[in-house]
Amino acid sequence: VTGIGDDCAVLRVPPGHELLVTTDFTIENVHFRRDWHRPELVGRRCLTRGLSDIAAMGGEPLAAFLSLAVSSDVPQKWVDRFLKGVLDLAAEFKVPLAGGDTAQSRAGIQADIVVVGSVPKGKAVLRSGANAGEQIYVTGELGGSAAALARLMELKPGGPEYFQHFSRHSHPFARVAVGRWLRQRGVASAMIDLSDGLSTDLDHICQESHVGAEIEAEAIPRAQVGKKPVALELALHGGDDYELLFTSAATVPSKIAGVPVTRIGRTTQSAEMRLIGVDGKVRLLKAGGWEHFQGNQKS
Ligand SMILES: [Mg+2]
Repeated sequence: VTGIGDDCAVLRVPPGHELLVTTDFTIENVHFRRDWHRPELVGRRCLTRGLSDIAAMGGEPLAAFLSLAVSSDVPQKWVDRFLKGVLDLAAEFKVPLAGGDTAQSRAGIQADIVVVGSVPKGKAVLRSGANAGEQIYVTGELGGSAAALARLMELKPGGPEYFQHFSRHSHPFARVAVGRWLRQRGVASAMIDLSDGLSTDLDHICQESHVGAEIEAEAIPRAQVGKKPVALELALHGGDDYELLFTSAATVPSKIAGVPVTRIGRTTQSAEMRLIGVDGKVRLLKAGGWEHFQGNQKS
């Protein structure tokens, strides 16, 4: 109803809907590095994190709010380009940036994005709805973003070939249309977005739904780097892919809203996660998900 320019934004919730609210930090040297990541990408990813959470509930994004703290050594140009990344993606999704705050930080850049969405009453797709004996699916391809990050670590900062080959890393796109499709048809029993990595996010569904999982290594759709698929480790544990992971007892098409959907395994009665290797051997799969730049680097 009203956005930036008053004390609060006024939002109208569609009749018969409930509100969805998600908030995510984007912190310099934790989620990005200024010498590795273009500011537009940092902004784009910042908003993608919120939109992807709304997608994972089967919701419609309504508005975004951005609070940004920047230290005095950060050029205005960086901030302008960061905002362009946020606003371009907001326009793609027709989500208004309806408010926020700015402040000077003591050091570095901290951004907090809030995305508000809505979903028909009682229809949000939760992490807790999976039953044993259902099939497990993912959208798109996995590990591309982690592979790009691994490559960035090898390259000299400022090198020219940074983002050319890694579209999921350089151009993340929340699967809102797929989430909506699944919710409208009641196809997904449980759903989560892949922000921390397949093994970690699958573990969240297993814990919340009180089921286990059996994943077939060969079935996992791995992103390509050049002509080669990324390492299985990256597809299993790499973060920032912003694909959807869901369970279903229904028939699921191989493409939803133009996005490939792949069956990667099934839910089980026993609580643990297992991985059936390409060699046919069964291993215990642990939540070995993403660790950000600080501390021990996994990939
Ligand atoms: Mg999420």
